[in-house]
Amino acid sequence: MSELGRLVTELQVHGVADPALPGNRGRRGGAGPSDHRALTIDGTTVMVPVYNTAAKASPYSLEASGNSAVALANQGSEALRPVETTLEPAFYQLSTTEGVPYRSIALLHGRDVLATTLLQTCIRFRDRTDSCQFCAIEQSLEDARTIVRKTPAQVAEVAEAAVRLDGVKQLVMTTGTPNSDDRGARLMAETAAAVKQRVQIPIQAQCEPPDDPIWYERMKQAGVDSLGMHLEVVEPEVRRRILPGKSEITLEHYYTAFEQAVEVFGRGQVSTYLLAGLGDSAESLIACSDKLISLGVYPFVVPFVPISGTPLEHHPAPSTDFMVEVYTAIASRLRASDISSDVMAAGCAKCGACSALSLFETDR
Ligand code: SF4
Repeated sequence: MSELGRLVTELQVHGVADPALPGNRGRRGGAGPSDHRALTIDGTTVMVPVYNTAAKASPYSLEASGNSAVALANQGSEALRPVETTLEPAFYQLSTTEGVPYRSIALLHGRDVLATTLLQTCIRFRDRTDSCQFCAIEQSLEDARTIVRKTPAQVAEVAEAAVRLDGVKQLVMTTGTPNSDDRGARLMAETAAAVKQRVQIPIQAQCEPPDDPIWYERMKQAGVDSLGMHLEVVEPEVRRRILPGKSEITLEHYYTAFEQAVEVFGRGQVSTYLLAGLGDSAESLIACSDKLISLGVYPFVVPFVPISGTPLEHHPAPSTDFMVEVYTAIASRLRASDISSDVMAAGCAKCGACSALSLFETDR
């Protein structure tokens, strides 16, 4: 049983109260897990929620401890545990020649991942009853923290600077789904090509399954190393409730898409997000992960964390015990397979900061 894995799980499900300590203050809104900041514990950098309502009531809090050091306090214990916050990266100080701040184009995730949302709008977000209920993709637009669409040249310019100034190791590109049958794959391919012309950095693209599988080959040729296509939840009733629009794409369609993508990118270079805690049973998540691993797909399980301003902002996170049960079962299946977070070229599973799964994989 991973001691650090259990602690990270605790922090990710409860969040951490943060009295606005300095450093890289993380991010709010946007696509994927959010309202969190990076903390390094025993050399492992993880993202923990600090901005949502749950975090304010968490038994865990950050405290300043001596010269700019930070410690993690737990209400139930006297002991303080030293942790580190990450610094704001140097590229956040720069802007393009047209005056667009680099941080409106891409953000530092974890310790060394550059992440961007190429298109900050989504066909599924027009109507909140139709959108994925956990998602905040258009919220950061309303607050003018980002721009609607990042051009390939802008992303390439920021990636070059982030590698040179901050030692960034990989680029993760996600997108809202455009109204086209490539489902965002064209944007991914064009941007990957522009980035690879300026800087050699592993790239993960994330999009819905494109209608025509030729796009897997095009993305790969353009310089995409790994691909993420995200199931989020798996049981039929949970899919309809949480993904009212996206659940029109059947699970069977996803499984076919995974097979086609693995043929192009290779076993272990395709992954999916599974958000635990939204109604799927542990058995369903584990059975789905079994199937994914057999197809060559890494099941990146993360605890659902409510994001402020979304329809699920008051939905509870899963319990630590539930997550530990799911992580333990999936990690043992990963260990028995040829797939691991470590051998992935790029992507959320490689970064691992939003989940404790990789700690269970290595039993840390
Ligand atoms: S796991 Fe993905 S979303 Fe989370 S910090 Fe890493 S790159 Fe960002």
